[in-house]
Amino acid sequence: MARIFISPSKYIQGPGELDNLGDYAKAYGTKPLVIISAGGVRRFGDRVRASLTSAGLTPVFEEFNGECSQDEIDRLSTLAKQSEADVVVGLGGGKIFDTAKAVANSVDTSVVIVPTIAATDAPCSALSVIYTPEGQFKEYQFFKHNPNLVLMDSEVIAKSPLRLTVSGMGDALATYFEARACKRSDATTCAGGHVTNAAMALARLCFDTLMSDGAKAKCALEAGALSESVEKIIEANTLLSGLGFESAGLAGAHAIHNGMTAMPETHKMYHGEKVAFGTISQLVLEDAPELDEVLLFCVEVGLPVTFRQLGVEDASFERVLEVAKLACADNDTLHNMPFEVTPEKVAHAMLAADALGKKALADWSD
Ligand SMILES: [Zn+2]
Repeated sequence: MARIFISPSKYIQGPGELDNLGDYAKAYGTKPLVIISAGGVRRFGDRVRASLTSAGLTPVFEEFNGECSQDEIDRLSTLAKQSEADVVVGLGGGKIFDTAKAVANSVDTSVVIVPTIAATDAPCSALSVIYTPEGQFKEYQFFKHNPNLVLMDSEVIAKSPLRLTVSGMGDALATYFEARACKRSDATTCAGGHVTNAAMALARLCFDTLMSDGAKAKCALEAGALSESVEKIIEANTLLSGLGFESAGLAGAHAIHNGMTAMPETHKMYHGEKVAFGTISQLVLEDAPELDEVLLFCVEVGLPVTFRQLGVEDASFERVLEVAKLACADNDTLHNMPFEVTPEKVAHAMLAADALGKKALADWSD
C-alpha cells in the first residue's frame, strides 16, 4: 500500500485575523452558510458579519443545535441547499467544525473552519466524529477533501478559557504516540494509506513543542499574555496535531477516550482531557520510556491523570472493563497497536495509569 499525506489547503494563524475572514473566504464563494453557536453569535457575530459583508459576501447565519449528529448534518445540509450557499463556514469549537465539514461534503461546497478555541485537533482534518443525538460516539465519517482554509485568530484563542487550550494540549499529547504505534504496526492511517516520514516528523515536533512550551504557554495565558510560547502551542494543538493524527494515525489513546463515553460521569470532561488519560493508559500498555515525562507534564499543566479527576468515583474492574471492551470495538483504533490487545489488558493498563497518576500527584504536591 502507498504512503499518503493529506492536509488543508491553507492554514492562517495570527492576532486579529478574524477581521480578515471575508477577504480570505471570498476565494471560495460569495454566499457563505455560517454555522455558529448562540454564544458565538454574541461574542463574534458582529465582527464576522462586518468582515464578510465588507468583502462583498452575503452570509446566512444558522445556530448549531449542540451535537454533531446525522440529524443535525441533514438539517443544515437542507438549509445550505435552500439558501444556495456556495461555501460553508464553521465558527466555534470541535463539534461545529465536524458538522460544517460534513455539511460541506454533503452539498459539495468548499469549507472554511474558524476555531475560536484551540481545544482539539479537529479543524484541519477531512474527517468528523459523529455522535448519536444523545451524545454517544457513533462513527468516524471520512470526506473527499480537507478544509479549504483553517483560520486561527491567536488573540481570540488567547482570550478563550484556559482549560480549553490545556485540553487541546491533551489531545495533541496523543499524536506522536499514536503515530508511532501506527508506524510500528504498519497500520492504515486516517488518510487511507501508510505513514509518511513527513507526518512522523510533524507528530514528533508536536510532542517536542508541548514539552518545551506547554507549561510556559499555560503560565502566559494565566496572565492573559499572547507570547511566542502561546503561538507555538496554538499551532501544536491545531496544525501539528491535526496533520499528525490524520496522516500518521490514531491508536490506543483515542480508542480509550471513545470507550470512556460509556462512563456518563466523564461527559462533562473535555475531549483532550480524556485523551490525555487515554495517552497515559496507552503508554502503560506499551511500557513506554516517556511515561514519567508525560505524567509529569499532565500534572504540571493540569490535565487529569486519575479516574477521580475525570469525575469517576467508582472505578471497579468491571466498570473499567466495560470501557475497555468499547475501546476494543472493531470500528475503533486500538487494533492499530503493534501487539495483540485484549479488553482485559486495556482495563489493567487504565487501572495502572490511575495508580501512577495518584502517585505523580502526591509526588508533585510534596
Ligand atoms: Zn482528538
